[in-house]
Amino acid sequence: MDYIKDLIDSGDFEMESQTCDLDKVIDENGCFVDDVISHTIICKHCGQAFSCGIVTFRGSGSFRKGR
Ligand SMILES: [Zn+2]
Repeated sequence: MDYIKDLIDSGDFEMESQTCDLDKVIDENGCFVDDVISHTIICKHCGQAFSCGIVTFRGSGSFRKGR
């Protein structure tokens, strides 16, 4: 998740949609807030969308082009 934050902080990308705030992915108990967390970011230069999804109970994530 830090990777997405870095991309947005760099100013080249903006968040299009998210199932939860990047800084609220982990709750006060140290657990993920949901089984599946996904974020979509858009490149400000070419409009390319990238999706990042994490399946928390499997500990797997993906980062790919498109929505
Ligand atoms: Zn681009």
